[in-house]
Amino acid sequence: MTHSPLPDPPGADLGTVRDWVREAVQLSRPIAVLTGAGMSAESGVPTFRDALTGLWAHFRPEELATETAFRARPQQVWDWYASRRAAVAGVEPNAGHRALATFQAREPGRLTLITQNVDGLHQAAGSPGVLALHGNLAEDRWLDSPRACCDASVAAGTLTDACPPACPACGNLRRPAVVWFGEFLPEQALRDAETAARTCALMLVVGTSGAVYPAAGLAFTAHQAGARVVVVNPEPSELDPVADVVLRGTAATLLPALLSP
Ligand code: NAD
Repeated sequence: MTHSPLPDPPGADLGTVRDWVREAVQLSRPIAVLTGAGMSAESGVPTFRDALTGLWAHFRPEELATETAFRARPQQVWDWYASRRAAVAGVEPNAGHRALATFQAREPGRLTLITQNVDGLHQAAGSPGVLALHGNLAEDRWLDSPRACCDASVAAGTLTDACPPACPACGNLRRPAVVWFGEFLPEQALRDAETAARTCALMLVVGTSGAVYPAAGLAFTAHQAGARVVVVNPEPSELDPVADVVLRGTAATLLPALLSP
């Protein structure tokens, strides 16, 4: 009679990944972490999928988060961002953000943190040198390059109080300092993220559906360069196929378990 192999006991994969983290520390090998919207779900920030319910349910982010949409309907896009800013205001980093920041404080320089999130929660948790590939929701910038004639109005306090605010001299609009669909990512942050992906021994991919490129491509880069790739996500993701281990669970429960001493 033949026996099929026994399934791994629960927690075996968790133990394996904990060992990989420890090994990277002991051998002084780099770790990269790529996070997405699921990282902040337990802080109460809606993921894109969650955003399919509620006030903005009848708009797809792809229809609002573009320069074309902003130029055509600036107030509508501004209002959408105002609602996202309101959703983020007052939320706190969760145990997953804190576990990453604590690990970085304990093992300086060992871990490069790359995020697609624009909510600032990694920074709020105290993580240094976060590579924020998609910008920061809390900041604005000019839609068009500020014109020389308007230098004076660049100083804070001289904007119109319309939504979105504008330069009173030339009408140039303020826009959220996030990366919209179809826009380039911040060059230096992307370059640093690609280097981290190419050189890491271990990459943790946390709370991302893996549908948005080039960020998702970093997991493929790490895999192709020979790193161990671990996906942390309660649901299947498009990056599961490149993972050596998929941990089905949430960021706030699994990261403290993986990264504690
Ligand atoms: P996504 O919404 O496409 O996917 C979220 C993923 O997180 C899903 O795979 C889901 O299963 C997983 N998830 C849900 N709860 C989780 C938890 N508690 N722990 C771990 N994983 C969990 O998000 P994405 O892949 O980051 O890509 C979409 C884009 O959305 C990104 O460009 C990002 O900039 C933007 N976005 C950012 C925020 C934010 O800053 N917090 C919020 C929404 C969207």
